Amino acid sequence: MLIAKMAHHTEINCLDYSRAQLRQLRQQHFYCPACHRQVVLKVGHYLQPHFAHQQRTACLTAEGETAEHLAGKALLGELCRKQQLRFRYEVYLPALQQRPDLLIYHHEENIALEFQCSPISVAKIRARTQGYRQAGYRVIWILGQRYQNQSWTQRQHAFLQYLPAWGWFQWHLQVRTKRLLLIHHITHQGYPQQMRWQVNLFSDLKRIKKPLRQGLSYRQCMKESTSLYRQLNQAAPKLLSVQQSCYLRGHHLAGAPVCCHSPAMPPINRQASLLLNVELLLLCEQLGKVTLNQLENFCQQRQAAFYQLPLFSHQNWALYWCCLVLNRWVSSGVLSKQGHNWYFLKAHWFQDYFSKATALKQLLAKR
Ligand SMILES: [Zn+2]
Repeated sequence: MLIAKMAHHTEINCLDYSRAQLRQLRQQHFYCPACHRQVVLKVGHYLQPHFAHQQRTACLTAEGETAEHLAGKALLGELCRKQQLRFRYEVYLPALQQRPDLLIYHHEENIALEFQCSPISVAKIRARTQGYRQAGYRVIWILGQRYQNQSWTQRQHAFLQYLPAWGWFQWHLQVRTKRLLLIHHITHQGYPQQMRWQVNLFSDLKRIKKPLRQGLSYRQCMKESTSLYRQLNQAAPKLLSVQQSCYLRGHHLAGAPVCCHSPAMPPINRQASLLLNVELLLLCEQLGKVTLNQLENFCQQRQAAFYQLPLFSHQNWALYWCCLVLNRWVSSGVLSKQGHNWYFLKAHWFQDYFSKATALKQLLAKR
């Protein structure tokens, strides 16, 4: 941590002093603002000078702090200063037993910044976020290097947020290059599934562009169908159950209707949207009429197929995801909708991969 208490409850911030000045202060006594135990002032050559608890304690601030976390906090403070934002470092909030890295005071609003570098569970993200919100704080999670690699698993998806202007987004802080990046318009596309996103510097948010809205391209559809066909030939285990459900309805997965190919929104599906769409279509075919309740059951049975979004407390995003698909099918004539119910009309299944490929090639040639 950067801040400690001294005798007479005065506060000291490491960032306000040079290393030489801090070395002269080392004989003083310092205390943790949260647990009031004595802490040590550490002034080395490389690491940002900071305070640390003497032993492992149960104090919430006693998690070992990395160089990245210490430098990141200082960097975020610099950015706030440049934006002329009023802020304080590491304010301990006793009622919440939380201590955000920075607390910003902006237009009567208190914003807690959490620079997350270490692993954290989905449950903990949810609890902390709710804690802040219930106490009237807005919380912004900013992700460190650990979360910036290319493989998007649950731990990256957990920090997804949404704004109409930015789509699905999150914040990444690159300490090494001193850049705060907005990763926005995050989507899942294709089969096998890929992540797509756009990047803007924090200093350049006015220039955010929405991606061009793309309808279904037959070329893309062809590509997805071929990958699926290859995986089916290799008897990929993840396809078994979907393939079986298709057989039971007299279909072949490789001949899935064109309507099952679509980009996924919001980007919360673990399983490729092509497979989830096929399962949804089979449900519609089988039931003829699908109610909101039945759709909810479908989602509940497939909880593992969707990522959890702990930054949202109420919305059932899996259900929302499925409703979007069904509504898209209403506009393409696969379903009709009356009130809160969807009715199956028709969908063209191809006999196999080859007849689908032939049909798609003809459609491609027409364009
Ligand atoms: Zn402490």
